[in-house]
Amino acid sequence: MIGFYSEPDGYVCNRCGNEMDPDEACLSYDDTIECSVCGSDDVDEAYRCEICGKLVSDNQVTGWDHNVCDDCVDKKRYDLDFCTKVGEDEGTEVVLNSFLAEFFTESEINELMLVALKERAKVKPIDGLKYLRYASGVAADLLCEQEND
Ligand SMILES: [Zn+2]
Ligand SMILES: [Zn+2]
Repeated sequence: MIGFYSEPDGYVCNRCGNEMDPDEACLSYDDTIECSVCGSDDVDEAYRCEICGKLVSDNQVTGWDHNVCDDCVDKKRYDLDFCTKVGEDEGTEVVLNSFLAEFFTESEINELMLVALKERAKVKPIDGLKYLRYASGVAADLLCEQEND
């Protein structure tokens, strides 16, 4: 599950698929959230996708400030502008070449690299999904997968 700083837009029941507004979800005696239809406590926090407006469970959402559902991310994974916009909130730290760092600010280097990346994308499509995944804190999972290969 991805951790979010923001309050969820609602809740989704994993058993019956019921979508609930925050004030619609029932709190049980021990403060777990229960589905208002079937009473199941298998309820996920959900966020509204910025693109399609669908309410989706937090493990199907990417981005911190920009919540985008997996379906929309998948459709736009080769759109570098989209990927950098959604991913920029929680970018991966890169150790800068100290010589370059003397002459450029970090944002200038980011900008230059993005220009270079777009040039490269004209030759070969670049899948921005990996960047988005790193950006939204799933990096640890990705790294585990790679180690197991
Ligand atoms: Zn339910
Ligand atoms: Zn969407």
